[in-house]
Amino acid sequence: MLEVSDIVTAYGKIEALKGVSLSVDAGRITCLLGPNGAGKTTLMYTIAGILRPRRGSVRLQGAELVGQTADRVVSSGIALVPENRLVFPQMSVAENLAAGAYLRRDRSTIAADTERMFARFPVLKERRAQAAGTLSGGEQQMLAVARALMSRPKLLMMDEPSIGLAPLVVAEIFRIVEELNRDGITIFMVEQNAHLALKVAHRFFLMEQGRVTFAGAPGDVAQDDVIRRAYLGSA
Ligand code: ATP
Repeated sequence: MLEVSDIVTAYGKIEALKGVSLSVDAGRITCLLGPNGAGKTTLMYTIAGILRPRRGSVRLQGAELVGQTADRVVSSGIALVPENRLVFPQMSVAENLAAGAYLRRDRSTIAADTERMFARFPVLKERRAQAAGTLSGGEQQMLAVARALMSRPKLLMMDEPSIGLAPLVVAEIFRIVEELNRDGITIFMVEQNAHLALKVAHRFFLMEQGRVTFAGAPGDVAQDDVIRRAYLGSA
């Protein structure tokens, strides 16, 4: 579904991505592992059209995304749930959801989708008029996911959705990820918790220092010594 080929993205002279190639299969959950500073966030921002790569291509179902604006990337079916949630803190839950649909023109279906989000995330319904900044971390993560879903993505990218959340909340987020995937949404997520990711993801990539250094299925992850030591805490 998504083909990333030989992407080079730099901040000034520093190349954060040094020729990254990977693919995300339709209908699956793909997990990107890697240490801090490996370039995972930079890759998601590049795919989302927020950063422009110096070289390479990103194709969604064959259509080139490099050179498109971030708005066009959203319209073509990719939504990003950024790291640390980044909801609009002063705006209400309902306003945050409306913001997620800002590129859509179909007002009546937007209202119906808002209700669907409230059905999927009941806690957001209870707090629909509350300022997003006053929600708990887990609730903000739910809101960030729901806001991204308001653009009706085919591909949902999630940057470390479990970071800083209590285990029960993380389990709930992962349950939602699986549910969304069963509903047909393709998932591409950065996740440091490999134990958890192994329970849901179908395919894994490891990035180190701006390069992809491993690609494989869950069974390959458990057998790879480097990954086992770094991400599964076993020798
Ligand atoms: P983390 O898990 O810490 O978010 P990451 O794998 O997502 O790490 P990136 O945030 O993509 O890594 O960073 C990749 C490299 O690019 C790092 O060396 C980082 O210092 C550098 N970098 C990131 N953002 C900027 C920026 N705005 N300006 C300059 N350098 C940056």
